[in-house]
Amino acid sequence: MRIVLIGPPGAGKGTQARVLAEHLSIPAISTGDLFRAHVERGTPLGRQARTYMNAGGLVPDEVTTAMTADRLREADAASGYLLDGFPRTVRQGELLDEVLAAHNATLDRVLAFDVPDDDLVRRLAGRRTCGDCGLAQHATAASGDEPGACQQCGGALQRRKDDQEETVRNRLAVYTEQTEPLLDWYKARGLLTRVNATGSVDEVTRRTLAAVLPSTSRSV
Ligand code: AMP
Repeated sequence: MRIVLIGPPGAGKGTQARVLAEHLSIPAISTGDLFRAHVERGTPLGRQARTYMNAGGLVPDEVTTAMTADRLREADAASGYLLDGFPRTVRQGELLDEVLAAHNATLDRVLAFDVPDDDLVRRLAGRRTCGDCGLAQHATAASGDEPGACQQCGGALQRRKDDQEETVRNRLAVYTEQTEPLLDWYKARGLLTRVNATGSVDEVTRRTLAAVLPSTSRSV
């Protein structure tokens, strides 16, 4: 299956992508993670992307699509994948269509995660990511601003640079202006399913699986 996950920052797409990927035995490919890996390695692409990322803006469409197309050529993506955070503009949607056509492939479904803005700001303010396993989780009230330990592997939790308040506001504005038009674009093609992404991770997982695999969702 080839599935696209779209949602504002803090909607939990990354978390759901990991669960779905395991369930469907296909890789979850996050363009944000790919960019962060480039930034960490100090590659030319990472240096180019860092400026946009730190400001909460989008890396240019052609650069992002070229990086994603390279990843989709890897062997583990041959029988399907979940795209987490790509495409994010109508132009990227068009470019993805070209990449798919070159592979004789089509998308099965596009899931859009809906969360009210107030919830997003609250979630992002408390979001911490494990430096070792990458799991995103909410900082506990007890840990406050102190970095805590990962609930999965005990690794050190970090706050993403672009989760600071000013950057978050910009990322939400960018989502509304540049990514939301993509939802109508996919809706017009009959590919879009909206998922209510409020509530617990498990509740959202159940709704997500129901959207992707309607017949098996009840057994999960
Ligand atoms: P994310 O982890 O998905 O929130 O992405 C973090 C940052 O990486 C975004 O704020 C953008 O600067 C950049 N990025 C990730 N995916 C894309 C994309 N599809 N197009 C442009 N920039 C992206």
